[in-house]
Amino acid sequence: MARIFDVAVIGAGAAGMMCALVAGKRGRRMLLLDHAHAPGEKIRISGGGRCNFTNIHAGPKNFLSANPHFAKSALARFAPTDFIAMVDRHGIAWHEKTLGQLFCDDSAKDIIRMLLDEMRAAGVELQLGVEISAVEKGEGGFRLQTTVGEIRAASVVIATGGKSIPKMGATGFAYRVAADFDLKVTETRPGLVPLTLDPALLAELAPLAGVSVDAEIRHGKTAFREALLFTHRGLSGPAILQISSYWREGDEITLSLEPDVDFAALLKTAKRENGRQAVQTVLARHLPKRLAQYVVERFAVDRPLADLSDKALEALAAFLHGWAIKPAGSEGYRTAEVTLGGIDTAELDSKTMMAKRVPGLYFVGECVDVTGWLGGYNFQWAWASGHAAGESV
Ligand code: FAD
Repeated sequence: MARIFDVAVIGAGAAGMMCALVAGKRGRRMLLLDHAHAPGEKIRISGGGRCNFTNIHAGPKNFLSANPHFAKSALARFAPTDFIAMVDRHGIAWHEKTLGQLFCDDSAKDIIRMLLDEMRAAGVELQLGVEISAVEKGEGGFRLQTTVGEIRAASVVIATGGKSIPKMGATGFAYRVAADFDLKVTETRPGLVPLTLDPALLAELAPLAGVSVDAEIRHGKTAFREALLFTHRGLSGPAILQISSYWREGDEITLSLEPDVDFAALLKTAKRENGRQAVQTVLARHLPKRLAQYVVERFAVDRPLADLSDKALEALAAFLHGWAIKPAGSEGYRTAEVTLGGIDTAELDSKTMMAKRVPGLYFVGECVDVTGWLGGYNFQWAWASGHAAGESV
C-alpha cells in the first residue's frame, strides 16, 4: 500500500531540511527522504568541521547564475539574520571569522542537530537509506517508486544537491528528474575547486608547494583578494577557489602577490640605501622566503641590488603584480565544493522554486543554477531557496 503525504522532499541536506521544517510548521504532512544513512553530511564536513553557515553580506551579487536576478526574491525573504536568529534560539555559539563569514564556535554538528530538532518539532518524518528509482506525475499528484515502497505526495521537492564530491553520495539525481520532466538544465561544471597546472609549470613551481601568500587573482573583470596556496597539484587557497568558478579551460588568470606592496619603489629605495643587499633579502621582507627565492631564480637576479638597473627592478615588480598563468584544468568534482549550473532558472518560479511547467514539482539548493562564492553564501542559498519552497508547498 502506498503511503500518502502532502509533500515528499528528496535530499536531507541543507536545503531539503530547511524546506521540510518550514512546510512542516505550516501543518503540511512532510516526508523527507535520503539515500544516505545520515542527514546533512556536507554540513558536517563544511567549514573545516565548523560550518560557515552564512555570510552577513550575502546578496545577489555574490552568486553566479545565467539569470543574476533569479536569486533576489528568495534571498530577500530569508536573510542571513533569519538564519542567525534560528541559530541563536538554539543557543549555538558562533563567531565571524573574516569577510562576514559566520562559523560555529564548536562544531558543524550543532547545525545538523538544530535542523533535526526543528524538523521533529514540525512533525517531519525523516527516512534515511532510501533509494528512489522514479518520480512520476499522475492524477492528483506524484508517485515515488522507492526501496521502501510507493510513496504518494501532492508535491515533490528535489533537494539532492549537485555533482560535487561523489564519494559523499552526490548523484546528479536532480538533473535526471529535470530531464524526465523535460525541464532544461544549464551546463554543469565544478566550482570552488583547486586549479591544476601543466607538468612543466608544475615541476618549475614544485619548490613552492605549501607556500601561502596574500594575493589578488584576476580573471577578466573579476578579481578576488584572499590567500593563494601553491600545492603539489597546482594552485589552491580561497582566492583560487573563488576565481575557479569564473575560469574556463584555455583562459589565463593573473596573480598579484602582496598587492599592497609597491615592489618597484621598495627595490629602488633599497638599492639607493644599501646597494649591497641581495634582491632576495629585500623581497623576503614581504614575501615567503621560498617565493622570494623562486622569483630571484626565475629572473636570474641572484645578485646585489647595485648590479641591477632600475628597469630590471621594475620588470621584477611588474611580474609580482601581474603573473599570468594558464591553468591546465581543475581537480574536478572530486574536490569541488560546489556544482556550477544546474536546473535552468527560466524553468522555475523565483518566489516559490516551483517548476512553471510542472505544478507541484520544486527544485531547491545547489541543484539549481545559482552558485555562491566561497564564504557561507552557498548555505545561505540552500536556506533561502529551501525556505521559499517550504512556504509554498
Ligand atoms: P547537499 O547538502 O549536497 O544535500 C543533498 C542531499 O541529497 C544529500 O543528503 C544527499 O545524500 C542526498 N541525495 C543525493 N542524491 C540522492 C538520491 N539519488 N536519492 C536520495 N538522496 C540523494 N558552503 C557554505 O556555504 N559554507 C561552507 O562552509 C561550505 N563548506 C563546504 C565544504 C565542502 C568540503 C563542500 C564539499 C562543500 C561546502 N559548502 C559550503 C557547499 C555546501 O555544502 C553546499 O552548497 C550545500 O550543502 C548544498 O546544499 P543542498 O541541500 O542543496 O545539497
